[in-house]
This record gives sequence, structure tokens and C-alpha cells, in this order.
Amino acid sequence: MTAPCAHVIPLKDTPSVRTVAQLPIHLADGREASSTIYSFHGLSDAKEHVALRFGNPDSEAPLVRLHSECMTGDVFGSARCDCGPQLQESLHRLHEDGGYLLYMRQEGRGIGLYRKLDAYRLQEQGHDTFAANRALGHGEDERDYAAAAEMLKALGVTRITLITNNHDKCTQLQALGIDVVAVEPTGVFSGEHNLRYLEAKVRHSRHTLALPDTSQEN
Ligand SMILES: [Zn+2]
Repeated sequence: MTAPCAHVIPLKDTPSVRTVAQLPIHLADGREASSTIYSFHGLSDAKEHVALRFGNPDSEAPLVRLHSECMTGDVFGSARCDCGPQLQESLHRLHEDGGYLLYMRQEGRGIGLYRKLDAYRLQEQGHDTFAANRALGHGEDERDYAAAAEMLKALGVTRITLITNNHDKCTQLQALGIDVVAVEPTGVFSGEHNLRYLEAKVRHSRHTLALPDTSQEN
């Protein structure tokens, strides 16, 4: 006899914490911060996301920042985007107030590093960041925050104060069972090299950023 339930969806592991280690950090202003870094078992996208915990996070609704990996911005300080300063701001804030940084391995809005560099080439030919992704056959933003919700649940955190200017993160987390009780904005880090990138973010993805008025230019 064949099994009566041939199409049973295999049970996924409930995501859980895999490793906990101490990670002292040198902040950009010269201070040293103590953090605890977590890796996870069973995340649904099987990527190596990590969470960093700072201080004693508020037990009711801790501060949480989701940062999507950007090697060029986070590591090399690229001026093409605002990721590096955004990450530094988050680290300073979490060091002072306590909370969690979820570092999501979603390079280039989910398209990967090499494809992001292909998109940079298209941007040099006049596309904005979103149009460049579309020209390469990708969605404007392929990030999915299911793994972020899984990490928070594995950490025992289901009510949060989210640091973001991006409504999409808030909406997705709510839909994934995380109660976002408050949203706090991040700073705006604009400069001559990233202004077009930031303007495209505002136009395309419901980011709320107060940018300098460039309507007299171009
Ligand atoms: Zn970036």
C-alpha cells in the first residue's frame, strides 16, 4: 500500500540559536562596545544571518535594527549608498540604549554582490538603483524578512521597537507574527555620491527620508 499522505510537507526545524559568543566591537567614534553574537539553526532561507545583542535590551519591546549586508558600504565605506553610516549609527544607538542588530545576508537588496556590481555599471549608464535591478531581470527589492522574524522568535523576542525608515520591513515583520509596537527613524546620510540613490529609495520603496531639495539642479 502506498502511504496515505504522500504529499505531507516535511516539518522544518523550528529555528533555534546555534552558537552564542562574545564580540567586543570598536565603534567608529573610538569607544568599545560589548556585544553578544548569535548564529542560528534552521533558518528558512539557509543563509548565515547573525544577530548581535547589546546591553540589556528592554524586556517589553526592545530596539531592533535589521541591516542588510552591503560589502561595499559596510566594509569599504562606499559612498555610493548610505549603508556604512546607517550601520555605524545602529551600532552606536544599540550600544547606548540596548537592543538587537540583525545582520541579514541579503547583499544588493537580495540579488547578490556580483549582480549588484553589474547594477552599478548600469547606474553609471544612467539607470537608478531600482531600474538597474529590473534591467538585470530582478525585482526592485528581493529582500524577504522571514528569516529575521525567525531569528527574533529564536531569541524569544516577539514585541519590538523597530528602527527603520522602510515601511516594508515593518509590514513584513507584522505579517510574520512580530508585534512592532513602535517605529523609530534612522538618520539620513546624504552626500554628493549617494543622493540619487537615496532619492530613488524614496520614490520606489516608501522610505521616509528628508533629503535636501535638489529640484533646482539638473
Ligand atoms: Zn550599500
